[in-house]
This record gives sequence, C-alpha cells and structure tokens, in this order.
Amino acid sequence: MRQPFVAGNWKMNGSRASVCELVEGLIQGIDSVTNAAVAVCPSFVYLADVQRMLSDTRIALGAQNLSDREPGAFTGEIAGAMLKDFDCKYVIVGHSERRALYGESDELVARKFTVALENGLTPIFCLGELLQERQQNQTESVIARQLDVILTLPGGVEGLRGAVIAYEPVWAIGTGMSASPAQAQEVHAFIRQRIAKKDAKVAAGVQILYGGSVKPDNAAELFSQADIDGGLIGGASLDAQSFLDICRATSA
Ligand code: PEP
Repeated sequence: MRQPFVAGNWKMNGSRASVCELVEGLIQGIDSVTNAAVAVCPSFVYLADVQRMLSDTRIALGAQNLSDREPGAFTGEIAGAMLKDFDCKYVIVGHSERRALYGESDELVARKFTVALENGLTPIFCLGELLQERQQNQTESVIARQLDVILTLPGGVEGLRGAVIAYEPVWAIGTGMSASPAQAQEVHAFIRQRIAKKDAKVAAGVQILYGGSVKPDNAAELFSQADIDGGLIGGASLDAQSFLDICRATSA
C-alpha cells in the first residue's frame, strides 16, 4: 500500500517574510491532513528558516536542485551533503524548468539522481513530455527515454526504492491546463509497467506523483486514479489554504 504524498515546489518565489508566513499557515492546518505525507521545497536561501520552523512537525523539507558533484571548487553550486545538513529529506531532480532553461541533459539529471541517493536524500525525479511531443504521439517514447536513463544506472532499478517519481507533462506546468485524470493515469500506468518489467516489487512500491496545474478543485479526481499517488504542486502550493486543500484531497 503506497502512502499518498504531496510536495510543494515553491520555485524562485517569496521573500523571507512571506515564506515564514506560508510555513506558519501550513503548520496551523497540517493536523487536518490525515493520510498524506507532506513536504515543501523552498528556495535554498530559506532552507534554514523553514528547517527551524518545521522541526517537531510532520512536514518534511526538500530542496529544488543539487549539484552533481561532491563538495569542492564549484562556485555557486550546492552539494547533497549541504542539503542533508539542513535536514532536507527530498530533492527535486530533472524538473522541466531546469531541463529547458538550464540545459540539464538526461545524463546530468541521472548524475544528480545518483548523488542524491549517495547523500541519503530522496530524489523526486521529474519527467514529462512537451506539448508537441504529445501531439506527435511521442509521449510514451519520451517518457521511456527519460525513465530508462535512471533504470540503466549502475544501481539499476534498485535506485527507485529510495526515490519518488513525478510525471509532469511540460504543457501542463504553470499553464492552468492540467492533464485530464485519464491522460495522467495512462502515463502513470505506463511508467509503473515499465519499471515492473525490471522489478515488480519496486514498481508496486514506488510513489508516482502527478504535477501540472493541480488545484484544489481538480486534485481529488486526479489523486483517485489507480497509479497516481499524490502530487508535485507549483503555483497552488504558494497559498497555505489551497495547498492544504490539495493535501486533504488525497483522502477524498
Ligand atoms: C511544477 O512546476 O512542478 C508544477 C507542477 O507547477 P504548477 O503546479 O504551477 O503547474
């Protein structure tokens, strides 16, 4: 039985004051979320504040990125060990914004995935197709390519035991145009089946989140699909009440 999981990706948003206010709102409401595990991923510079506020709560901390290198002379980078130092449990890798805007290749994403695991972090591994790829019926081949990069790492499918997957169709991110529950379920099932070809147990256990314009009013139907285990939430996670509503939708 997979526990539902909802993670908020705050991206490059907020100020120190607004982030603390948001965390305060989440702490006040978290008891109303009865069955989902919950995490938030603030900007690096707010990790210390958020860590302090979340200690003794059941909201976990995550980061939005990490370096593919071990600590050393890499100006501007953040090592996995540094994230561990701030009690991060999760780290997002392969987000489409990093792939598209910062040129992160499948190979770089795979190295970040490995470094996350090596540092005791749970990677939230994002994958998803562009609109044009969906329109050209390439969704499955794109997802297969992105997933296989992880499945063929030296650790193989085993690496997914300590990871979370987030299917995020690029055309649905920040556009207000979510995938339909049926569209999302179809891809989630494809991902799970592809993993099952390597290891049925890992496939049955891995949490696969949906991300892309999840809001309080569409979350319950998306989360009720057989292979959708929760969500990676961008815009709607910046408001405590809508994020909590989405978290509660896992038990609808
Ligand atoms: C995201 O960027 O991971 C995301 C899902 O964003 P949004 O919810 O705003 O579409």
